[in-house]
Amino acid sequence: MAARSWISSDMKALVVNALRSGFELEDIDIATPIGREVLIDVQASGLCHTDLLFATHDIVPIPAVLGHEVSGIVAGVGPDVTQFRVGDHVVGSLAQTCGSCARCQSGRTFQCEHPESTLRRQNDEPRLSRKGIGLFQGLGLGGFAERALIHENQLALLRKEMPFAQAALLGCGVVTGAGAVLNTATVSAGDTVVIFGAGGVGLNAISGALIAGASRIIVIDIRPKRLDVAKQFGATDVIDSTQTNPVDALRNLLPRGADHVFDFVGLKQIAEQGLAMLSVGGGLYLVGVAKPEVSIELNIFDAIGGQKRIQGVNLGSTNFKRDIPMYAELYLQGRINLDDLVSKRIALRDVNDGYAALKDGSLNRVVITSF
Ligand SMILES: [Zn+2]
Ligand SMILES: [Zn+2]
Repeated sequence: MAARSWISSDMKALVVNALRSGFELEDIDIATPIGREVLIDVQASGLCHTDLLFATHDIVPIPAVLGHEVSGIVAGVGPDVTQFRVGDHVVGSLAQTCGSCARCQSGRTFQCEHPESTLRRQNDEPRLSRKGIGLFQGLGLGGFAERALIHENQLALLRKEMPFAQAALLGCGVVTGAGAVLNTATVSAGDTVVIFGAGGVGLNAISGALIAGASRIIVIDIRPKRLDVAKQFGATDVIDSTQTNPVDALRNLLPRGADHVFDFVGLKQIAEQGLAMLSVGGGLYLVGVAKPEVSIELNIFDAIGGQKRIQGVNLGSTNFKRDIPMYAELYLQGRINLDDLVSKRIALRDVNDGYAALKDGSLNRVVITSF
């Protein structure tokens, strides 16, 4: 099948052609919007660990265009789009929601039963292609590109005062971290919170806990640099788990244990330490995953006596159309720290270096702002 230039146009995008071969800058084709699709001129695109996981593990089809923290300007709309018009500023949402199933209708869009309805059907021309052959579009977004073609249900409207780099981070890191605290755990004023992992997502859990009014925000990491950043974001206490047993250290701070423990790391030892930190009736929230095959052990007797809860958290239980404008509003009021998340701005072609730079722990988040 030859590329049909009359319904598509050329653009630069990063393509993952093979696992562990990195992201390659190429010219590909992007289709013209049909139905409820919106064409976005990408202005900013965040580097999230999940895309690196997709580029190194057999999780999504390849070749693929990844990138799921994306903000930009609407450049075109399909004939059935009702929520956006050309010139609007938008953020992409990694949650694919149909908007009409029972769960979507009850506000639980993060548990949508028909996420595939945001994608083109099998027989349609692919949104992204190279020499007429379709490319997989990561999470229905494909933000590592000059333009992106996205279903309107996967977009949230932004106020124009909102800067694009900070806005892009709302799409995954912010809603995942702050959403776990505010939506999944529904942390209340006065509650005590423990956060394992002060990376680019964990920092947003600190912000969420501040917004909720948590009385203690205790952050645990193995990197002193990350603990300094955690304090800058509002941690009341930090624990370096290379220097001390974190369960003992936590019990010194909170003898009855913590109300909520959030694991942004996803290792067996950490999740089990989290369980040992819970107060009676406390909850452990599993948000991060280091390797897909990690499991944990739970003693049933302890779980019953301690009335423990374990909850897996996906998408920060986020209702994007409600939550993204809310976080943007809090940012514009100076009530959530997004500026310090943007540690480094890079060009599209420098994504491989950007991921490498994130490894040493000196950066919070890296954002592509030049395409
Ligand atoms: Zn992400
Ligand atoms: Zn749905």
